[in-house]
Amino acid sequence: MKKVWKFLAGVFGFERLTKYETDYLHDANVRSCSYMGFIVVSLEIWMLIRQSYSKILPKYQKGGDLFELTVKYTSKYWLFLLIGLGLMLFCLFYHRDKRLTKGKFVTLLVVGSACMLYTAVLKLESFTKTSDAVTPVMAGIMNAMLVTIYVFLFVIGAAIVTYACLNYFRGKRVVILEHVAVTGFTLVCLAFGVFVSYSDFWGGKEIICFLTMVIYVGCLLIYRPYITLLILGSSFFGFYRILLTYNTGASFKAQEVEISGVMHKIISGDAVNYVTFFISLTTICFAIYHGRLVEARKSKALEKSAKEDQLTGLYNYGYFSELAQNAIRNITGDPSRHVLLFIDVHNFKAFNDQRGFEAGDRFLISIGRHIADVFSGSLYGRQADDHFVVLTGTEGLTERLDRLNALVSDYDDEILLGVNCGGYHLNANDEDPRVCIDRARYAAHLIKNRFQTVYIEYDQTMSEAYRKRLYVINNIDNAVEQGWIVPFYQPVVWSDTEQVCGCEVLARWMDPTYGQLFPNEFIPVLEEYRLIHKLDRAIFEAACRDLRAALDAGKPVVPVSLNFSRLDFELMDAVGELDGLVKKYGLEKDLIHVEVTESALTDNYAKLNEAINRIKELGYSLWLDDFGSGYSSLNVLKDYQFDVIKIDMRFLSNLENNEKAKTLIDCIIKMANRINMLTLTEGVETKVQAEFLNNVGCNRLQGYLFGKPIPKEAFYDRIDKGELVVSEKRL
Ligand code: C2E
Ligand code: CA
Ligand code: CA
Repeated sequence: MKKVWKFLAGVFGFERLTKYETDYLHDANVRSCSYMGFIVVSLEIWMLIRQSYSKILPKYQKGGDLFELTVKYTSKYWLFLLIGLGLMLFCLFYHRDKRLTKGKFVTLLVVGSACMLYTAVLKLESFTKTSDAVTPVMAGIMNAMLVTIYVFLFVIGAAIVTYACLNYFRGKRVVILEHVAVTGFTLVCLAFGVFVSYSDFWGGKEIICFLTMVIYVGCLLIYRPYITLLILGSSFFGFYRILLTYNTGASFKAQEVEISGVMHKIISGDAVNYVTFFISLTTICFAIYHGRLVEARKSKALEKSAKEDQLTGLYNYGYFSELAQNAIRNITGDPSRHVLLFIDVHNFKAFNDQRGFEAGDRFLISIGRHIADVFSGSLYGRQADDHFVVLTGTEGLTERLDRLNALVSDYDDEILLGVNCGGYHLNANDEDPRVCIDRARYAAHLIKNRFQTVYIEYDQTMSEAYRKRLYVINNIDNAVEQGWIVPFYQPVVWSDTEQVCGCEVLARWMDPTYGQLFPNEFIPVLEEYRLIHKLDRAIFEAACRDLRAALDAGKPVVPVSLNFSRLDFELMDAVGELDGLVKKYGLEKDLIHVEVTESALTDNYAKLNEAINRIKELGYSLWLDDFGSGYSSLNVLKDYQFDVIKIDMRFLSNLENNEKAKTLIDCIIKMANRINMLTLTEGVETKVQAEFLNNVGCNRLQGYLFGKPIPKEAFYDRIDKGELVVSEKRL
């Protein structure tokens, strides 16, 4: 039974609607009112032109007073025109922007005042004397309607003026006026329909206008179904009663009536049509209401997904920025008491690696909750990955961040977790929150992996480095085009003969403004902004071009190792492009070694695995860079077949006094050999290190002892001078 009630309540629109749904329907109604305004305006302009030609002009030519004629013949059309114009403008402005600009304010004032002035100046009798009304009922209806319209016009005029003033001076929206517009729409349409159709009926014509107007009201406006039922029901029934007034004393089944000498029939067949029409229209209105409701729900869901971060339910970055921009604009008082925070999670990657992606997601959700809790009342959102953003006041900021840090670090007993946060204090010139966040992010970046520091503020001393970063981001395309990206070559030697067996290509940015930039100044930022592929593409091409030139010049060549960033596989078809270049420059495949860093391979990413396998399939030598610098070195060795592993240079620091390091290197080399991989040690700076590495069987060495990275010409210079001897042996 309960279900039946619920169903019926739903059908007739008694169910509770959310604020969003009510607003959605209301907005649609106000929008419809502007169409109505438009139609009224067009009709009245047409009427005015017609009246001028048919009545005013001939009489004026005969010597009539233009003002008097105009008032006599067109006053009511002007009246309707003003109503329509007022309604249309009101509804149009409502939708464009609920706040009023100066221009809209003035327009509304003019229209509103005109409406009021018109009704105040014009005498009521001038249109209550409806001379063309033949029957007393007709005259009564017309008079009643005109008085209603007169009052309504005055109310509309006053409403528009009030609306304009209140909105403009207080920036507030006056909902009651929107209801006046919608009600006005309904009343004017129905009154017009009844008025015209009554006179049509009296003239022996069909009641088309009434039907059109009820369709217009019923289908354009969306009232709750039970209200629609009331409006349509009373209109149809009321109008029917009015029609029957001709037929004094006749029942609904009355046959024929004589009106002013014309015979009218309201036979039962017409009554049936009339009722059928009423029922069909009501049903259609019900359907429209329910359709609109479904639409509202869908639109709400869409809107939600456009604003929310799917995982944490916080605002997404786009929406956060939008809100932050508004908030920044509306700050009153000292802007530096507000700060934009960029919050990054320490060791999130390690957590993800060790606990899996699902646990990582749960962790992020919990961080989102903690942020909502610690910064309740402020604006917060998730930027991407493990990065969150907050706009908040400076009061008690350090305490709040410490609390957040404690909550985050308590999440796991084994993995060291925490947050590092950069803050940017607003100043009066700040407009774009994204720029501010970027600065906060830059500051946060400076304390990454410094667990004891939770918070750092962006300050002027950081600006220079920050500007450089921005410069890199904004100029990478230019740098590539202008040839500022230059490959430097560092020799790799056989450990037994110390003859050159290859070289690593390392990028340098030769900048006209900043001079020579080193990879630590541009590689991380290009990776962060997902632009690194642009640089790598340029370096790969330059390296291949250099090889071709050396071959053509008959110079001795050695294989080059190219550094692949993890993102290269995501942002471009790295393997395909490399293979294309090798073909383009007609190089042997064994002249190219592909270096992939160990940390790249801990992301279990299908596209990456596929790319790595393709490198091998195509016949390139695959090298594992920075072995031993990350967490999952051994797993990586298990999962992929490398030709050479490059032992990270930090194993060599203080090697002479560190027996453990020596044993470790020894073991790594033996292990690599047992799984058919060769070894190279990077960062060799002393003879002692080189000797030791040769003794434990490391195949290749690279480091300042044999040469720093230098330009191609310098590299050949050293060969020419005999400082570097190119080995015949390739493998
Ligand atoms: P990496 O691939 O590990 O390159 C080795 C880095 O160690 C180079 O630094 C090199 O100059 C330095 N190095 C070599 N021998 C010694 C030594 O004996 N002692 C010391 N202290 N350092 C030595 P660089 O050129 O500054 O490059 C830094 C990192 O930038 C590279 O590390 C690599 O990860 C990245 N990188 C450089 N060029 C490119 C590139 O074209 N593309 C990509 N994706 N990354 C690049
Ligand atoms: Ca490398
Ligand atoms: Ca390395």
